[in-house]
Amino acid sequence: MEKKFRKLLDRYRVTVGKGFSLQTHDPDDTGGLKLERAEAEALLAASTAILSEQQDKLYAQDRWAVLCIFQAMDAAGKDGAVKHVFSGVNPQGCHVESFKAPNALELDHDFLWRHAVALPRRGTIGIHNRSWYEETLVVRVHHDLLAHQKLPPSLITKRIFDERLEDIAAYERYLSRQGVVILKFFLHVSKDEQRKRFLERIEEPSKNWKFAPGDVAERVHWKAYHAAYEATIRATAAPHAPWYVVPADNKRFTRMIIANAIAAALEDLDLHYPEIDEPTRAKLAEARAALE
Ligand code: ATP
Ligand code: MG
Repeated sequence: MEKKFRKLLDRYRVTVGKGFSLQTHDPDDTGGLKLERAEAEALLAASTAILSEQQDKLYAQDRWAVLCIFQAMDAAGKDGAVKHVFSGVNPQGCHVESFKAPNALELDHDFLWRHAVALPRRGTIGIHNRSWYEETLVVRVHHDLLAHQKLPPSLITKRIFDERLEDIAAYERYLSRQGVVILKFFLHVSKDEQRKRFLERIEEPSKNWKFAPGDVAERVHWKAYHAAYEATIRATAAPHAPWYVVPADNKRFTRMIIANAIAAALEDLDLHYPEIDEPTRAKLAEARAALE
């Protein structure tokens, strides 16, 4: 990947959480790129091509797993990003899981359980559309959700969200030591752009299905969500599990940054096709002779 694109990623990658603030991240930023349609499409195509090539090696090598976590306010473009960024990836080597409000079975377990069973196998990419981070975002904003989690009351203390963040950070460190490459994307959309996208969902018949009236009511909690995102990123950004705070007011730019970030992380693994040893090579020669 070209150096200048790697450099661009540095602007959005957060590996040290201390002091993190959303104030310094502009949802409308396009990294100085003009992003005319054709240019943006070419850039996205270039990074999805790298992604596709790297994924083939990841699968062949069967050692590393890649976990891509997507978090965002509604209408920030998670679904579109998943659709476009992974368009060139072999479906055999990737799996998307979307996490909604937990069901009864899930609530009968610890909060990480449903996410743990959905983790990607070695050699594959797991895409988690929402994740364990909902536990320190929506649950923090809507405290009453805790009451349904069947926790022993004595464990619901003032520190519960700090504890969850500690547990998530520890779990991600464990996973990284197990060969899971973790990339976390916060699609940072502005409140006004969200308003426009909601209106589009109402006006455009093919988008009506995406509109949930409850999502509008959720806008009154905007500040609380942002505070929860800041606390979450502060506690869980790490070199082995970076957050990318991706400007999300411009969909093309969002997708380009995400595709680049994943492609760069795969390139950094220095993946290669497994090499064949001498005895196996001799067997290949035998097989060729038999076929010929
Ligand atoms: P999305 O909103 O991600 O585009 P969707 O609209 O298809 O997806 P929803 O039915 O809105 O799906 O499900 C997502 C909702 O589930 C979100 O409001 C999210 O906050 C909520 N959710 C996810 N995980 C949890 C959790 N652990 N506890 C409570 N609510 C959760
Ligand atoms: Mg929704």
